[in-house]
Amino acid sequence: MPDLIQHLIDGALTNGHGTRRSDVFNPALGSVAKQVALGSAADVDAAVQAARKAFPAWAATPPLARARVMFRFRDLLEKNAASLAAIVTSEHGKVLSDALGEVTRGMEVVEYATAAPELLKGDFTEQAGRGIDAYTFRQPLGVVAGITPFNFPVMVPLWMAPMALAAGNCFILKPSERDPSASLALAALLAEAGLPKGVFQVVQGDKEVVDAILEHPGIEAVSFVGSTPIARYIHQTGTAHGKRVQALGGAKNHAVIMPDADLDKTVDALMGAAYGSAGERCMAISVAVAVGPIADRLVEAMAPKIRTLKIGPGTDAENEMGPLVTGVHRSKVSGYIDKGVAEGASLVVDGRGLKLQGYEDGFYIGGTLFDHVTPEMTIYREEIFGPVLSVVRAPDFASALTLVNEHEFGNGTSIFTRDGDSAREFVHAVQAGMVGVNVPIPVPMAFHSFGGWKASLFGDHHMHGPEGIRFYTKMKAVTSRWPTGIRAGAEFQMPTLG
Ligand code: NAD
Repeated sequence: MPDLIQHLIDGALTNGHGTRRSDVFNPALGSVAKQVALGSAADVDAAVQAARKAFPAWAATPPLARARVMFRFRDLLEKNAASLAAIVTSEHGKVLSDALGEVTRGMEVVEYATAAPELLKGDFTEQAGRGIDAYTFRQPLGVVAGITPFNFPVMVPLWMAPMALAAGNCFILKPSERDPSASLALAALLAEAGLPKGVFQVVQGDKEVVDAILEHPGIEAVSFVGSTPIARYIHQTGTAHGKRVQALGGAKNHAVIMPDADLDKTVDALMGAAYGSAGERCMAISVAVAVGPIADRLVEAMAPKIRTLKIGPGTDAENEMGPLVTGVHRSKVSGYIDKGVAEGASLVVDGRGLKLQGYEDGFYIGGTLFDHVTPEMTIYREEIFGPVLSVVRAPDFASALTLVNEHEFGNGTSIFTRDGDSAREFVHAVQAGMVGVNVPIPVPMAFHSFGGWKASLFGDHHMHGPEGIRFYTKMKAVTSRWPTGIRAGAEFQMPTLG
């Protein structure tokens, strides 16, 4: 029997009430490594009850004391970065250096959350009326939940939890069932940092747990990151149950390559952005819009680099690209390549059928490049989430911009150019939440906030940074005066300044 990955409820590991299990693979070998317990509504309820018990004391803990837990957590993340990265690589498949990068980006949110006393500071107006003071401040929501995708099993939970916890909430994490081990490693470090039991919990599972979270009256808010159909469902169902919801969805990020771009640097940038993490990033570049005469030179320069990508197990430091997360996902990506060919795109580099000696059963697929892709093709419209780059040719800047703006998704986008005017106009007019200028993957730092537009985000708030604090708190406005300031007699008109 493979090891069972459990839930962490009320400070203890447990198999929970659910009896269903799901296989967790080692994608480099293509074998089942572990199983994960799939929770039930009873497990969600147990976690909510424990969180509600823990909430009053945690919410009443001074923000500075909560920040100190975050300081210790940050140190522990740094000390344990290599082992966390190894856990990510073992279940996700990405190369170790990339997994380490993910831990670092997550740690930055913890660093931001250590500023909790400053972030939660309110406003004060002395003499808002005669003898009257007015002030506002933000308080935690209560029990909140996070539902996360497979592609960043450390970073995405860390986009959410440190912000929620620093603001005084109790947090329940439902990680992806495809790479669930990192969630328990994070929980162990938080406990070691001094977080009281019940304040951070993990319920493993699939749709059954997600639905129980969305329907549970004891959960005030839900943060979600994943694919667009599920994000839309989470937003609709969660809000219908009276919850605050932020649901980040899928992407189809375009890079616009202007004719004056530095070709060598652009090619390097596109190689990393399209094929890093085997394209399993929500900020991966999956469409290169080549403007005017640069298209032929771009495709010529990229093709040999894609053919010679170093692909293999993520544990080998030589490799640039690991396997995809599961065999099912590999079949899906390979099916998109079939469709691209059938719909008439030119397949310049074909990654299908890649077999690696010694890793014949691993979930590998090679880097793939399509040219002459057009907007009506399936490979242009849909998110593939694999190492497949589509080149679309556009005659000029205006038509390139229209392409980006008319796409269903609006997560990230970038422009490669030496011309300040084109760059500025692009930044101004493009319909996307995160924009890069000669930066292929413009992921905002922790002190800004992360989020897309259009079908890439449902809800009102981006994640982490100042938006994270707003999402996880509610504002209270107080108007106060002391008995000496109160005029005699009842007043029946609307209070005004006079
Ligand atoms: P997914 O939507 O399949 O799963 C995300 C979460 O939803 C998981 O925890 C999963 O268990 C749960 N889930 C899956 N199906 C469900 C259902 N029918 N009902 C209820 N819950 C369900 O996404 P994934 O494959 O794990 O991750 C990849 C996707 O996430 C891509 O679309 C990628 O673009 C997106 N993503 C977006 C961002 C962003 O910031 N916008 C970041 C990372 C990943």
